[in-house]
Amino acid sequence: MSRFWSPIVHSLTPYVPGEQPQMTKLIKLNTNESPYGPPPRALEAIRAATGDMLRLYSDPTSERLRTAISNAHGVSMDEIFVGNGSDEVLAHAFQALLKHDGPLLTPDITYSFYPVYCSLYGITHEPVPLNAAMQIDVEDYLRPCGGIVLPNPNAPTGIALGLGRIETLLRAHPDRVVVIDEAYVDFGADTAIPLIRHFPNLLIVRTLSKAHALAGLRVGYAIGQPELIEGLNRVKDSFNSYPLDLLAQVGATAAIEDREWLARTTGKIIKSRIGLTSSLRGLGFEVLPSQANFVFARHPDRDAARLAAALRERAIIVRHFRTPRIAEWLRITIGTDEECRIVTDALDAIL
Ligand code: PMP
Repeated sequence: MSRFWSPIVHSLTPYVPGEQPQMTKLIKLNTNESPYGPPPRALEAIRAATGDMLRLYSDPTSERLRTAISNAHGVSMDEIFVGNGSDEVLAHAFQALLKHDGPLLTPDITYSFYPVYCSLYGITHEPVPLNAAMQIDVEDYLRPCGGIVLPNPNAPTGIALGLGRIETLLRAHPDRVVVIDEAYVDFGADTAIPLIRHFPNLLIVRTLSKAHALAGLRVGYAIGQPELIEGLNRVKDSFNSYPLDLLAQVGATAAIEDREWLARTTGKIIKSRIGLTSSLRGLGFEVLPSQANFVFARHPDRDAARLAAALRERAIIVRHFRTPRIAEWLRITIGTDEECRIVTDALDAIL
């Protein structure tokens, strides 16, 4: 790597994406994609737009998509910011948080990109350990800080905070931004969107990659009061970030409009999660109470890395976590009932 770049660039560890298998017979439960979908209406809209329309530049303001988001959540157009995946939306939010006095607080453990953004953008960062029950303890976030970013439900634990707890955070930091990343909120947790009215310091980040089953389309968005959204637009426009492409805009719009599909498929995933949780507990696993489309589990006397490797030999891919703070856990994405059964049968055989 060139010595001309900043020392920060040298210290970065490039992200290693979860395995993206080409072989369809692999059961892929490692990156929390949906086993259903994409929604047929989204595919139809994408097909209809795949033709002469692609000659033209996409709408830089994503107006139709923002209209769909506005209708779905009862917020106004100037309260919505869209980006190429919630990773891009988060990147702009982190950039906008640069040079605040006090460290940015995030849970430890949490979504692995938060610390990466902090080091890349030079943001002072303080990871706040989860409590003994692997939960975010809001009391630990009441001290002076430069802002707070946390997923609700948290990843990779799947444990959600109630809105009362989020309100406590917002009240404790009236001069700081609290970012709630709702990537997994549709699988059973409460959205903080109703709090937007009362808290100008709340920014909610969402994605179409999980419950809407459109991870490949790269669409995410943020909701907040107009002043916060205006700041994100300033960051975006000064970096001249790309607008969403045409297919992403039409596909995401149709997906958001199809609320019946969303309710039906998330309902199925929640049901499968309950089944998988009880099967894993039956095999002796400790399973955290998840409100996401994955479960976080460990076996009292089996090494998680070995279990993940043994599953991989059986063509099943799950994610294995090891950090000094939390030791060894498996994170298993909720697949179809059939996939969940294959995983539990395989684990039964391995144990
Ligand atoms: N937030 C959380 C908590 C996530 O787990 C992920 C992806 N796994 C993202 C954001 C990013 O999602 P995307 O960029 O696909 O919208």
